[in-house]
Order: sequence, then structure tokens, then C-alpha cells
Amino acid sequence: MSLGGSPPPTFHRGDADVDVVVIGGGVNGVGVARDASMRGFRVALFERNDLAFGASGNSSGMIHGGPRYLSADPGVTESSCRDSGHIQRIAPHLLFRIPFLYPVEKSARSKVMLTLIDAFFQAYDEFQPLKRGKPHARLSPDEMRALEPGIRGDLQGGVSFDEWGIDGARLCVANAVDAVERGAKVFVGTTVEAIERREDNGQPVAVRWRDLRNGRTGRITTSAVVNATGAWSPITASLSGLPAKRARVRGGKGIHIAYDRRLTNYAIAAKTIDGREIFIEPWQNMSVIGTTDDDYYGDLDDVRATSEEVRYLIQGIARIFPAIQEARPMTTWAGVRPTLYEYGPLEDKLSREHEVIDHAAHGAPGLFSMVGGKLASYRLFSEEMTDLLCTKFGVGAPRGTHLSPLPGGDEEIDPFALGESLEIDAVAARRLVYRHGSRSLHIAERIRRNPRERHVVCACEPVLEAEVRHAVKEELARSIDDVSRRTRLGLGACGGMRCAVRCGQIVAEERGLPPRYAHEQAVRFIVKRAQTRVVALSPEQARQEALAIATLRSELGAPPPASLDQAESEPR
Ligand SMILES: Cc1cc2nc3c(=O)[nH]c(=O)nc-3n(C[C@H](O)[C@H](O)[C@H](O)COP(=O)(O)OP(=O)(O)OC[C@H]3O[C@@H](n4cnc5c(N)ncnc54)[C@H](O)[C@@H]3O)c2cc1C
Repeated sequence: MSLGGSPPPTFHRGDADVDVVVIGGGVNGVGVARDASMRGFRVALFERNDLAFGASGNSSGMIHGGPRYLSADPGVTESSCRDSGHIQRIAPHLLFRIPFLYPVEKSARSKVMLTLIDAFFQAYDEFQPLKRGKPHARLSPDEMRALEPGIRGDLQGGVSFDEWGIDGARLCVANAVDAVERGAKVFVGTTVEAIERREDNGQPVAVRWRDLRNGRTGRITTSAVVNATGAWSPITASLSGLPAKRARVRGGKGIHIAYDRRLTNYAIAAKTIDGREIFIEPWQNMSVIGTTDDDYYGDLDDVRATSEEVRYLIQGIARIFPAIQEARPMTTWAGVRPTLYEYGPLEDKLSREHEVIDHAAHGAPGLFSMVGGKLASYRLFSEEMTDLLCTKFGVGAPRGTHLSPLPGGDEEIDPFALGESLEIDAVAARRLVYRHGSRSLHIAERIRRNPRERHVVCACEPVLEAEVRHAVKEELARSIDDVSRRTRLGLGACGGMRCAVRCGQIVAEERGLPPRYAHEQAVRFIVKRAQTRVVALSPEQARQEALAIATLRSELGAPPPASLDQAESEPR
């Protein structure tokens, strides 16, 4: 498409249905939808699966500076720490502290190594005030073991340092809800199939979409399109007729293994057999091991951990924390990092910088792709994207996402007082307040109107009936899987066996669907949960899982699958 003599792109707000279409409901897409709505743009966001379905809901959940980027990419460490500070201010309820231990094993060079590591973390300390982090401490082997008695091996010593964790899915939901409350239209389960561009100057004029759950299709006109589809970015760029390489990323698959309780009080850094850095971290009420980083060429809509990846990680953690081998994994999850493209370096040496690609340079003014980045700097990345939209549209609205609280982040709620007033147990109240902050009062209001809704649906997490209904009514959840992503229902030790059917009934009631839906959805959910778990189990344990699922299916009147593999081919 030639631009020679063609009319300049126009960014007239008002001509089209919306000013900006955002494609992708990961953290960067919802971040832009929120920011752009806040600055007065009319926004529509399309998410093909569910909010946080991609990397954003499958990350390690750290709002950190990333000490590993300090030497090669100090800019990434600085921006992540700075944005972590902002995220803590706008969503204080979602953040939790994760203190780390970094053990150094004895070797010929370990004394020097420990001195160097100590100096390295001294440099990292400079960034800690940006994110309210504590300075590091150098520790003797005895001090390390006093803090974490499970640490084994011949140690030279180690250091402690401080990070923050977050529930990435809740962060996405909070941004999306805020965008909706500011006027954005957010469509989940709706894929963009084409980006139409003007013949004369290449500017996007509309996107064509399809609701994947009911097959409905439609077209929405727009002046600009933001491709915020993470690892899908090249595919999305090609929907506009541009070559996929114009939004190239190097997708890096990472997996995690979760255990149903805290096995350590501190996160512990460890090394894999090939020297890559991994960790075990206390994360919400679980322990999580992460993560791998491998080039990924598979189906982005169906990313799963494999048993080889699980063994690779457990081997690395067991070297320093052998008790891990006795613990029964509860689940795994996997995602693909949309890392900036570079040919050559090993995956974990790639830059975690982010970049807005203005496709005006490729003959598509008004089409932008957001590639790279981190959960920890999503707000900044989204702000940079929205700044560019403001420049193109000639909008002078000030930045504000670092000041304005996300839904639930405006007021501190005492979970114990809330629990007492609702007559729910303290753990349930704490989890509710963690997930919703001051919005837990909206859920409390539901319970006051209808006390039956204080019933616990998922005991592992725990999750109340009122919260499930709230997720469907207020947070765009349309299935058990969606409720699970928002609340962690069914992700505990029972894998949904005790809660999926009831959750399915509630979702069906709220959506006006027949009761049959509840059973079908429940079986599908439980099988999917089991699939994420079997890769981390012994053959004996995997057989137990298969038996439990077969029993449940027969109780619900559904034919048992021959194996968990057969169930894999069921539609999502
Ligand atoms: C294993 C792992 C661990 C990580 N750990 C951390 C960490 O601890 N801290 C940190 O800061 N960062 C971490 N990251 C990085 C961080 O998660 C990502 O940088 C960030 O989440 C990317 O967000 P995104 O919105 O760009 O992409 P995504 O979250 O992947 O979202 C893209 C969305 O686009 C949707 N989509 C695709 N095609 C279409 C279409 N045609 N129409 C509509 N929707 C579409 C997808 O369904 C998806 O939901 C980690 C990533 C991984 C994978």
C-alpha cells in the first residue's frame, strides 16, 4: 500500500463508533483501556479468551524490580521498581511482600562470589525505596538455616532481599472494571478476526469480531487500533494485512508448579542444572516453583506445562530444599512471555524492555503494537501508549493512572470486623478483602440482602457464593473457568471436585442458562484442572486422579473418558 500522495491520517474523534479499539485483555490491554478512558477516549476492548488468560494470568506474579536485569538492563529494573511503587499506591490490597533468600553454595570461588553478590544487592538497594522494599542483608549459613530450616547443602552464606507479589488476574480485572466504569466497552470471549484499513492511506477504520461462545459476528469502526496481544502480537498484526514480522516477539514459555500450602516462609532462589535462576516462593496461600524460559512455537491458546519441565524445576529446587520431593504438587500453570525479538541470545538473557511500535512507519498510521514488558511496569507501558494516542489525536488530557486508585484500592478494610459483621470465618473474610479491597463491601451488601449468599462454595480458597455471583455480574465472568481466574476457586487441593458443580449452577442461574450447563461446565473444568496436575504427579497418583474424575462423571451422568488424554480434545 503506497502512501505517496495519499491523504494524511485523520484522528477525528466522533466520526467512528469509538476512538480506539484495544485488542487483548492482558495487563497491557486493560491498562491502555483504563488510561485512555480516563483521558476521555471512547474505547472498545476485545479479548478472545478471558481477561488475564495469557501471560498476565500465568506469570510468577511478582511486582518486582528484577535484580537479574540490573547488570544488563538497569533501565528495566528502574522502571519496574518505580512502577511497582505506583501500583502499590493504586492497589494496596493486591500487593503482598515476598522476602527472598539467595543462598551461595561453597565452592573454590564462593567467598569471592558472596562478596560480589553482596555488592550487587547493595546496588539493587538503591532502587528499593522506589517500591518500599527493605535493603538486603548478608547472612551466614547458620542465619540462613535459622530463617529457613529446610535449606540444605554446604553453604558459604547468602543474602536476603525484598520483593512484592500480586495476583495478576485480579490486577487485570481491576483495570478492566475501572475502564468499564469510565465508559469503555469490554468484550470477553470475543476475538478480532480482521483489522480493516483505508485503501488510500492505510489507516485502520474498523475491526471485525466474532463472539467465540455464540458465533455472533460484528464490525466496529474506529480511528485507531492498539494491538496489545502479547505473544499473539505478530498474528494480530497480520490481521491488518501487515507482515507478522512488523510486530515480532520472541515467545518464551514459562511454567510454574503450585503446592497447596506454604512450604517455606521465604522465597528461595536456586539454580537449575544448566545454571538458570529459579525459585520457590510463598505466594498467597500456596508455595509456587518457577520458572522455565524456553522458546515456544506451539498453540498460544493452549499452553501447558509438561512433565519434563516439572522435573527440571523440581530437580533445581531439591538441590537446596530437598523436602520439596516429598510434597504433592497441586497444579501447574504455563504462559508465554511476549519478549522483544532478538536472534541469538539464550531466552533468559533477552531484554525485558517494552516497546510501542507505531505502524505508521509500515504504512498503517493509527495502528500500534505493544511488545515486550513486564507485569511490574504495565502501568508505565500503558501510559506511554496512551501518551502516543493523545499526541496523535491532539488530546491534552493529563496522566492520572499513578494517582487514581484502582477499584477497591481507595480505602483500607478491616477483614476481621467485616468477617464478624457478616458472620463468616476470618480466613474467608481475609481472602475476600485481599481480592476486592474496599469493593468487598459491595459483596458484603449482597450478603446482607440475601444471607444465603454467605455460603462457602470453594472451601480450599475459600470463596463465597456472593463472590461468585459478583464475578459474573460485575467482573465479566461467564464460566467456571472465568470465576476461577478471578477468585482462585477450584485451584486448591481438591481441583474443583467439591466446588465446580455448585459454581456452575450459580453461573448458570446468573446467566439464565439451563442447569445442564452447570454439569457440562463442571466436568470440563475438573478435567482441565486434572490435566494441569497430572504432569506433576507420579504414575500412581495420576491413576488416582483419573479414577476420581471417572467417578464424578458417572455420578453426573456423563460418560467417563477413556483417559485424561482423550478428555484433552474437548473444546475449551
Ligand atoms: C511464566 C511467566 C512469568 C512471568 N513472571 C513475571 C513476573 O513475575 N513479574 C513481571 O513483572 N512480569 C512477569 N512476566 C511477564 C508478564 O506476565 C508479561 O510481560 C505481561 O503479562 C504481558 O501482558 P500482555 O497484556 O502484553 O499479554 P497477555 O497477558 O499475554 O495478553 C494478551 C491477550 O491477548 C488476547 N488475544 C490474542 N489474540 C487476540 C485477538 N485476535 N482478539 C482478541 N484478543 C486476543 C489473548 O487471549 C490474551 O489474553 C512473566 C511472564 C511469564 C509467561
